[in-house]
Amino acid sequence: MNTTLGNTHLILLFTLALTLYACGGSDTQTDTTSDSATTSSGSDTDTDTDADADADNDSETQTDTTVVASDLFFFDDAVVESITTQSCTLSGGTQTTCYRITLAGEPAVDEIGPFCPPTITSDASQGGIWFDGSGEVYDIDGEFISNLDQLYGDGWQLYDLSTGEVNITDTQEACEAAARPNVDPAYQNYCVQCDLDYYGGGVSETVLLPVTPVPLSNPSYVNANMGVSLNGVILAAQAPVDAILSNYTIAAFDDCGGHINPFDGYHYHAATGCSTGVDQEDGHANQIGYALDGYSIYAMLDTSGFEETDLDECRGHTDDARGYHYHVASPGENTFIGCFHGEQGEWLGSE
Ligand SMILES: [Zn+2]
Ligand SMILES: [Zn+2]
Repeated sequence: MNTTLGNTHLILLFTLALTLYACGGSDTQTDTTSDSATTSSGSDTDTDTDADADADNDSETQTDTTVVASDLFFFDDAVVESITTQSCTLSGGTQTTCYRITLAGEPAVDEIGPFCPPTITSDASQGGIWFDGSGEVYDIDGEFISNLDQLYGDGWQLYDLSTGEVNITDTQEACEAAARPNVDPAYQNYCVQCDLDYYGGGVSETVLLPVTPVPLSNPSYVNANMGVSLNGVILAAQAPVDAILSNYTIAAFDDCGGHINPFDGYHYHAATGCSTGVDQEDGHANQIGYALDGYSIYAMLDTSGFEETDLDECRGHTDDARGYHYHVASPGENTFIGCFHGEQGEWLGSE
């Protein structure tokens, strides 16, 4: 499924060798080593409060916020500006300090796509994956497209009977008519995919994560985007698979578990092994990202292939090395965590 893991680890090792700090920098140079060094000493005064992300690439002299060294780790180019801190109010009303993180809008590592296979004879390498929350992960190859009625019942006809070509939303208009809960009936029986080029190459969103997580007395179940991955991609809320399927559409995910919509751009609905980094010295699972409540999220399995046995309903537990943290669900479950253990930060959207 994923052939880029080797590269991911190479990049990771390279990154770790150079810098211990998260740093996207506010410029676009590919080597952010010097940024990291200067950021930690406080001499980098890039700020970001009011500039739009695109225009900010070469802007060096704004004021207001203080750039701080961050304990967060992201892959190079996962965030488009320096990570700063600001005061914030969490979901439970706690006033505290949050990291302000602006995601680049496209993955720093791993390619996007493919999503929909072109024909009913296409093999698995020409399409992505699909899951409906049942736990099963399907390769979207031509055979999957041809047999949808066996999986989901009558009414499925996602391809041209005479040519075998798959019905694919291959324009911005078609994507936007289909990649929404109330699918335009004209695009029922389509494999839905969108292109980041429709959205300037990516939707750059800003999120506030508490620097010090604040645990809740009762975990909260919120249908919000759950966090961010180390390569800068949103760990999204559950995909609305029932609405998708009831409209006879397949909103195809790529092999990394991501797809594109007009609102969040490219985002993940599953952790399939992409964006995995930060080897843990004790054989614990690798980190994949951060949850909206500020706790870290790790892969489902440890480096020996075992799942933790003491996870709570949020899929979290506590150990001495990491404190409280989550382990993601399996890809077919259509979620990353079970609930939020702490008060959530805030998605500020694209600014
Ligand atoms: Zn989605
Ligand atoms: Zn753990």
